[in-house]
Amino acid sequence: MNLASQIERYLPRQLLELVRDISKEANQLGQKAYLVGGVVRDLLLGYPNFDLDLVIEGDAVKLARQVAEIRQTKLIIHPRFGTAKLSYGNFTLDMATARGETYAEHGALPTVTPGTLNDDLFRRDFSINAMAMSLMPNNYGELVDPYQGRDDLEQHLIRILHLRSFSDDATRILRAIRYEQRLGFELEPQTAQRLKQDISMLDTISGDRIRHELELTFREKHPEYAIKRLGELGALQRINPCLKGNGWIAEKFDKARSLSKPGQLSSLYLCLLVYSLHERENEQLICRLNMPTKLARALRDTLRLKRRLHLLDKSSIKHSEIYYLLHQYDPLAIQANVVASESSTACSNLELFLTKLRYVKTSLNGDKLKRLGIPAGPELGKILQVLHKAKLDGEVKTRVEEEKLALLLKP
Ligand code: ATP
Ligand code: MG
Repeated sequence: MNLASQIERYLPRQLLELVRDISKEANQLGQKAYLVGGVVRDLLLGYPNFDLDLVIEGDAVKLARQVAEIRQTKLIIHPRFGTAKLSYGNFTLDMATARGETYAEHGALPTVTPGTLNDDLFRRDFSINAMAMSLMPNNYGELVDPYQGRDDLEQHLIRILHLRSFSDDATRILRAIRYEQRLGFELEPQTAQRLKQDISMLDTISGDRIRHELELTFREKHPEYAIKRLGELGALQRINPCLKGNGWIAEKFDKARSLSKPGQLSSLYLCLLVYSLHERENEQLICRLNMPTKLARALRDTLRLKRRLHLLDKSSIKHSEIYYLLHQYDPLAIQANVVASESSTACSNLELFLTKLRYVKTSLNGDKLKRLGIPAGPELGKILQVLHKAKLDGEVKTRVEEEKLALLLKP
């Protein structure tokens, strides 16, 4: 099987030129270069994928340096790992020296040794991700498929490469379900059996790695499918016994997509995932997933605000009241409550805060008040607050009106 025509068809011209340069340079250095992983899978499926991963039998760093010089691309190298990242226009391309892996302990990061392309493919998660395409001039485009990944693609199967795969690295449990649900595939029977048997191996994975895989899941078009399935398999509950992947999640994730900015969507999904947890359970999850401070704050605020939401469930509420109820919460937590709340009145008050009230500022500030003859000190702070409140409630509109009110309040 040769994929040369597919790569011509699917890759943008810029990226294709870069790949051709790598092919030429590798050949001159006597090295062998291959495209591997997701891009090969997606070329066979006919899906666009511009995240290129290359494996080099030889010295990836040396080759990347050479190509970066010829092409004037940006280059980041990690000599210790034998990897390099080239950035070219809007595209990036990862290059790695072929390596094999052994696992000293379940869930630990593997010990890496230099190896052949086959070693490098054997350390991968599933047969459909363990294919390569040659970039050597003499067989450019040739598919390398030692684990029958192409057959599995045709039969719509996710298959591990060996029976210890999930216990070596249980993040593959989350990855298997991500591909299963994205592609509409099934777990090959033995893979399914091992996956179920090894669910407890998730305990061996660090919080950072689980969170990373969850974030990858949240980048899917419909992460709720994978979340539901992980719930059915008991994998979610292994991360935290109170997590659920039910129909409520599906409905709310869908709503989140229609309301959120793309950059925030992943964190918003997480806030929705914890929505039904108690605060203590939420703290356990924050700890288990080693959440960064900002995200942890958004999750805590989501639940704190949920408890106070009834205070916003009235249409006669003053704008200043909405402001002071909400201004200390993380905006993401407010957004999560917009998505999660069943009360349309509370929702519109939350949205009013997010779109308007939080940006309301008085024209006067401390310096300007001092110029009006108001002395510095706690009184000045209070006057500013009264002005802000009056502005929020539409009692003053212009700067002149603010000045009048300030002078009235002058001690
Ligand atoms: P996607 O389209 O989701 O990005 P991908 O195949 O590019 O798919 P990545 O998560 O970007 O997936 O990883 C790149 C490649 O690295 C995978 O194709 C797979 O071969 C390998 N890989 C990633 N994570 C693991 C893992 N935990 N165990 C084994 N191989 C892995
Ligand atoms: Mg990828």
